[in-house]
Amino acid sequence: TVTLDNLRKEFDNGRIVAVDDVSMQVDDGEFITVVGPSGCGKSTTLRMLAGLETPTGGSIHIGDEDVTDVHARKRDVAMVFQNYALYPHKTVEQNMAFGLRMSTDLSKEARRERVRETAEMMGIEDLLDDKPDELSGGQKQRVALGRAIVREPDVFLFDEPLSNLDAKLRTTMRTEIQRLQNELGITAIYVTHDQEEAMTMGDRIAILDDGELQQLGAPKDVYNNPTNEFVGGFVGSPS
Ligand code: ATP
Ligand code: MG
Repeated sequence: TVTLDNLRKEFDNGRIVAVDDVSMQVDDGEFITVVGPSGCGKSTTLRMLAGLETPTGGSIHIGDEDVTDVHARKRDVAMVFQNYALYPHKTVEQNMAFGLRMSTDLSKEARRERVRETAEMMGIEDLLDDKPDELSGGQKQRVALGRAIVREPDVFLFDEPLSNLDAKLRTTMRTEIQRLQNELGITAIYVTHDQEEAMTMGDRIAILDDGELQQLGAPKDVYNNPTNEFVGGFVGSPS
């Protein structure tokens, strides 16, 4: 379970309130999609969950542990970014092994084995010796996804992972992520600006506006009973 309690992030001495006291709970095995207009605080929320940004208020719990002030490397979360964020000078294998080295005390052999298994599952076993700039966008995103999966994190954080891919590849990768969802039962918070993606992939959907959580619920319920006009407009409810 991931619990956000009045999570807040101000920038510029409070002139910007990027995330405005957001509270929510994500159950184990649940896939939450997050939508909202540009600048509404989606990435900042994820970055605080990943430990890449320090909250100015509130708390984050993963299970029973208060991780609000825990260093990113000590958190059992993995983030997948829009721009892949692969290390350009490392091979695919090294990229995948890197996160694993940070998070486990497996032997070198065991790590190699786990990277290979994950690469096979993701269909990238033939790319292990390549460098990121030798790969297509779709292959890079597969590697980025593999790098997250190999760590077996408690929580997956996705920040618009498919938005740099063309329509066809986006569909393929979406199916891939849904397969992970079904087979591994991953717990995930998935930011997207694609309404359709949010409505079909999410067990529940969170709608943010101006740093505030407007509504959190099953896509069908939100669609049928939006709490306000903004939400209704955003999920395309008939008015
Ligand atoms: P997008 O859909 O465009 O990715 P977003 O919902 O991810 O938007 P955030 O990146 O979380 O939005 O930004 C939320 C607000 O916080 C914006 O007003 C942004 O300008 C501001 N912000 C984010 N990071 C910083 C920073 N490091 N310094 C100052 N302001 C910031
Ligand atoms: Mg963003």
